[in-house]
Amino acid sequence: IAESSRSTDAAVPAADGDAVGILGADVRVPLVTGERVDYANFDYAASAPCLTAVHRALEAALPYYASVHRGAGFHSQVSTDAYERARRSVAGFVGARQGDAVVFVRSTTDALNLLARSVPDGCTVVVFASEHHASLLPWQHRGSRAGRVVRLPLPDSPRAAVEAARAALGSAPEGPRLLCVTAASNVTGEIWPVEELTGVAHAAGARIVVDAAQLVPHRAFSLAATGADYVAFSGHKLYAPFGSGVLAGRTDWLRAATPYLAGGGATANVTEDDVRWNDLPARHEAGSPNVLGAVALAAACDALSAADQERLHEREQALLDRLRAGLARIPGVHDLGLWDRDHPRVGIVSFVVDGLAADLVAAALSAEYGIGVRDGLFCAHLLTRGLLPAGHTQAVRASLGLGTTEEHVDRLVGAVAELAARGP
Ligand code: PLP
Repeated sequence: IAESSRSTDAAVPAADGDAVGILGADVRVPLVTGERVDYANFDYAASAPCLTAVHRALEAALPYYASVHRGAGFHSQVSTDAYERARRSVAGFVGARQGDAVVFVRSTTDALNLLARSVPDGCTVVVFASEHHASLLPWQHRGSRAGRVVRLPLPDSPRAAVEAARAALGSAPEGPRLLCVTAASNVTGEIWPVEELTGVAHAAGARIVVDAAQLVPHRAFSLAATGADYVAFSGHKLYAPFGSGVLAGRTDWLRAATPYLAGGGATANVTEDDVRWNDLPARHEAGSPNVLGAVALAAACDALSAADQERLHEREQALLDRLRAGLARIPGVHDLGLWDRDHPRVGIVSFVVDGLAADLVAAALSAEYGIGVRDGLFCAHLLTRGLLPAGHTQAVRASLGLGTTEEHVDRLVGAVAELAARGP
């Protein structure tokens, strides 16, 4: 249904070469009229397209993939080496401290469910209602070892978030405590004060886990620099294909926890009546690991680290400002935000159009303008519902990435203006 004149394209050319070029940046899609236009992808926050550097790394690894750690043959050695090199790349990407674990998992959801099953028994977990469901729900789910979950209401400022966390952690019962926060909201793009929250958690004798799924595609994050205890993110939002994610951070809780996936690789010894589990990271990587997933994710980490991040950031900021300014000029369009309009954000904007249902807006943007957005509540029902103006039940989300251009932004703003003027 779509066609591409070339299989790859450097969407951000020149200074960065194709280090941050992406696949499919030049795809042309059909409109209802039958005309074809360049696809304007505004759904990076759901899944980002593959970097050309990731594609190359996968092509190089494909002929050799084999089960790691358990084979003496050449392919197994090459794969084991690639898998462990990938782990080192990821460790560098997240600024892991000496001794921190880097566990390969399937996704951010998997990472946070693993941590929920690894916290000490009875741990108090403090979490904001604004979290993505992947961060909000694992603590209360079957298998979680958390004892008490304190859910804090949507804070009306970053300061209020810090104070609410301080109060909740300060009044929690003695014993292990964990604060869970998102680094950048998948609904508003707003960047949370992770360093301050880390300070508050540590002052209270608690730990902090940072859901960086939406931050790391846009900004560098470092465990060492922030002092955060754990970080989780997904490969498919970081310009690598699906199926790989990371939980990185302190080892003691993870080392003490029984693996939630039992199977080969996680075991050091099995007898008739006993199982001795492996040490980290294999302990939590039961089964044959996703070697290509790890290679892809690490290639994305390496490519983004090597890119001129300041330039990418400035470019995205200019596009984001252009989009928000354009939407602000359209009567009846409201851009959702928890905090001040000027609070720093990554390239994510959720909005509503008065009189139009979000799913209709999204469908019209696709069919009539070749623009891909997302509509709904974005797996953050409490936050999105809390931000929706009266009369709206869902929102439209436009998220930016390396392939976004000014033409895409102008097309989106123009299309929303036309739809808003046309009305129901
Ligand atoms: N956390 C945030 C902030 C997200 O935006 C998402 C996905 O949208 C997740 C966690 C879950 O990521 P995954 O679906 O890759 O597990």
